[in-house]
Amino acid sequence: MASAPMGTVSPISSRRSIRGLRGLQQRGLAGADADPELERVTERYAVAVTEPVAALIAADPDGPVARQYLPTIAEAVSLPDEIVDPIGDAAHSPVRGIVHRYPDRVLLKLTHACPVYCRFCFRREQVGPGGEALGKDDVETALDYIRSHPEIWEVVFSGGDPLHLPPKKLKAVLAEIDAMPHVEVVRFHSRVPVVLPAAIDGAMLEALAGRAARYVAVHVNHRDELTPEAIAALHAMTRSGITLLSQTVLLRGINDDAAVLAGLFRALVAHNVKPYYLHHLDRAPGTSHFRVSMARGQEIMRQLRGRVSGLCQPTYMLDIPGGHGKVPIGPNHVEAVPGGYRVTDPNGVAHAFPEAP
Ligand SMILES: *Cc1c(COP(=O)(O)O)cnc(C)c1O
Repeated sequence: MASAPMGTVSPISSRRSIRGLRGLQQRGLAGADADPELERVTERYAVAVTEPVAALIAADPDGPVARQYLPTIAEAVSLPDEIVDPIGDAAHSPVRGIVHRYPDRVLLKLTHACPVYCRFCFRREQVGPGGEALGKDDVETALDYIRSHPEIWEVVFSGGDPLHLPPKKLKAVLAEIDAMPHVEVVRFHSRVPVVLPAAIDGAMLEALAGRAARYVAVHVNHRDELTPEAIAALHAMTRSGITLLSQTVLLRGINDDAAVLAGLFRALVAHNVKPYYLHHLDRAPGTSHFRVSMARGQEIMRQLRGRVSGLCQPTYMLDIPGGHGKVPIGPNHVEAVPGGYRVTDPNGVAHAFPEAP
């Protein structure tokens, strides 16, 4: 492709992702003669980065952003405890595009595509450019399901990346949901604000506005992802009345360090994003090189608890393999003992706390 003439859209604001191993090679983000093993990895698991992400990778080719997106032959290793659908979405899917695991809320997955593909994605066997968006009839069936279940209080748009859909399409689906009085909360889980901030434009903000409360949970794993453009997108969403949360996956060699996470969480809180969950890595195939032990995760959380504002403390969560649900996994500061409890303070000192008579 010839370089763009001056005065046209700069690559940094291009909405088109760089796709596949070839795309990475053409941009100098992967070596020209790839290991055949790497070819096989990239045939199995989708590869894409956006222009802003490519710029971050080029600036730090072995850094915390590069490691989240560049495929490696480590992904060819599958361990026996890894599962294709680690959190059991399929077992709780009554109709296409809906996952109903908890009574008061459903996931609505309108698309399987993302603008980027994280190498540790727990839905890596489901997402990719092939499946694309749910068809018109399937969308209607999914909306009918929500309409006919008055216990559904919250609709969580997941995917694929829901903010990667055209604003017009989102607006149409949101209008239907806003017409269901029992749905009081709409939440989006997305990486778009950090990987494609240009997509959070006037049309998108207008599409997202509506009756039910609006939350966006931004998926972000390292401070380096919060570029000035990403921060501007966060501010634009806050100004338009959206409450922002974040989700982070604990990842070896990327953010398995209390100082690194403190830097991320403080930056998020400073830009109106409340850290919500820190996820223990799900056991998706070919992701064992990203694993951090639960003991290490708890140790990191303990270090954060003493040092960093309570606003910057997410809940450390495990999605129990097999679809048994999400639970907080500590660290535990309290232990039942005869007559009461033993409570450990942030410095590791235990204190007796008698039960009220
Ligand atoms: C994670 C998840 C949710 C949302 O859970 P919260 O704890 O409310 O963030 C809802 N449904 C399914 C199927 C999930 O996996």
